[in-house]
Amino acid sequence: MAGIKLENLIKSYGDTRILHGIDADIADGEMIVVVGPSGCGKSTLLRMVAGLEAVTAGRILIGERVVNDLEPSQRDIAMVFQNYALYPHMTVRQNMAYGLKIRGMSRAEIARRVDEAADILELRPYLDRKPRQLSGGQRQRVAMGRAIVRHPQVFLFDEPLSNLDAKLRVQMRLEIRKLQRRLGVTSIYVTHDQVEAMTLGDRLMVLNKGVVEQFGSPIELYERP
Ligand code: ADP
Ligand code: ADP
Repeated sequence: MAGIKLENLIKSYGDTRILHGIDADIADGEMIVVVGPSGCGKSTLLRMVAGLEAVTAGRILIGERVVNDLEPSQRDIAMVFQNYALYPHMTVRQNMAYGLKIRGMSRAEIARRVDEAADILELRPYLDRKPRQLSGGQRQRVAMGRAIVRHPQVFLFDEPLSNLDAKLRVQMRLEIRKLQRRLGVTSIYVTHDQVEAMTLGDRLMVLNKGVVEQFGSPIELYERP
């Protein structure tokens, strides 16, 4: 298990500075939600932690390790996106197994992890179906399953529920929170939805134009708007 530290994290594209020195100390097992209007830099921040975007200046630590120069696959993270990124021609089982298979994990261990994730997510009955034979909520669960089987130190969520209808969004939000608590995986969750942020986060990072405006628990922020 590992916390995450962001130290004076800066991102520029050419002369344009997108993130102006972000600091955060995220505890082991904590879930923080980064919330703010479109274009404020949420995705960029998350992609830097994932290693999908280079850091201009500052440091990112996962546990004791500075990960700035590590490839995504070496960072011990799993990311969940809004578009699920499921492979349409593969079954649910194959979708969950794929990331482990390409990493050379044994068949027995893969089967064990997929079954474990399927139990946690109540996907057992659907393991042999293709994504198109699933509902939106079930697809989102498979996307979660692909992250869980990796047994990562960190989950990164990039607006994972924004393609779902309102009712399902509320249900999946609760499921994600329950799951995150149960697994105790340190998490960063990005959303532009304030209600989602208030419900999900141990703490909220309110980002505006690349600057942290507020960082605290929902209650702290509510009492000091
Ligand atoms: P958010 O996720 O909060 O909507 P983003 O992190 O996607 O915001 O984008 C933050 C800002 O960075 C936006 O103004 C966007 O236009 C800009 N940006 C994102 N990616 C690039 C890029 N590859 N080159 C130049 N500017 C970019
Ligand atoms: P996979 O995406 O199947 O794990 P890759 O090694 O090609 O296989 O992934 C490249 C990187 O993409 C990962 O190391 C990780 O940083 C990021 N990634 C994104 N999403 C996921 C996800 N659901 N599971 C895994 N990795 C993801």
